[in-house]
Amino acid sequence: MSYVFNPAPVVSVPVLGIAERFPVHRIYCVGRNYEEHAKEMGFTGREPPFFFLKPTDSLIVVPEGETGAMPYPSLTHNLHHEIELVVAIGTGGKNIKAADAYKHIYGYAVGLDMTRRDLQNDMKKQGRPWCIGKAFDQSAPIGPITPAAAVSDIAHAEISLQVNGQDRQRSNVSKLIWNIAETIEHLSAAWELQPGDLIYTGTPEGVAAVVAGDTLVGKVNTLCELRVQIY
Ligand code: MN
Repeated sequence: MSYVFNPAPVVSVPVLGIAERFPVHRIYCVGRNYEEHAKEMGFTGREPPFFFLKPTDSLIVVPEGETGAMPYPSLTHNLHHEIELVVAIGTGGKNIKAADAYKHIYGYAVGLDMTRRDLQNDMKKQGRPWCIGKAFDQSAPIGPITPAAAVSDIAHAEISLQVNGQDRQRSNVSKLIWNIAETIEHLSAAWELQPGDLIYTGTPEGVAAVVAGDTLVGKVNTLCELRVQIY
């Protein structure tokens, strides 16, 4: 087959311990999935889960032991960090029940759902899509994937983000409003999940602005940490 120009390369994420990489299909994100974060955004209670997407090529893939470089994006004066547990789907399906959800998971990674908060808030006020606030170029830093078999008790893992060595976000995956299995159940009712899908599961409280020069270190217990510098 020939093309009128060279197709974009396959976007992929390294997998700890093996040479083969994880080819990325789609990036799904869950909104307001920790109660204390929902409150800081002006909402309360357990609302049905809702989702948005980021383009696959918005990933900044950061290998183990390296520091990723993220350009400060255009149009914003309020770039926020959101540390998130990322679930990597290995086996697709639709209408997956929560009880079967873990069979579909290939592994886990630490991710940042970087957000142009001022633009997102403008869109919210106008009832318009969030794309310009959430789905911009290089908006999704991610560290290596740890295969599920090598991860212990992800449902109770501590999750944290430090900026320039200071704590900004610290919580526990057990505080997800919709847990990993429930998220997969809801998501797969709306879309047929495919191998290679990534799910950013939501951020805990403490989201705040970063500026050029800041170094972000995100951790989820037992996963490879994610280190990113804004420039
Ligand atoms: Mn988020």
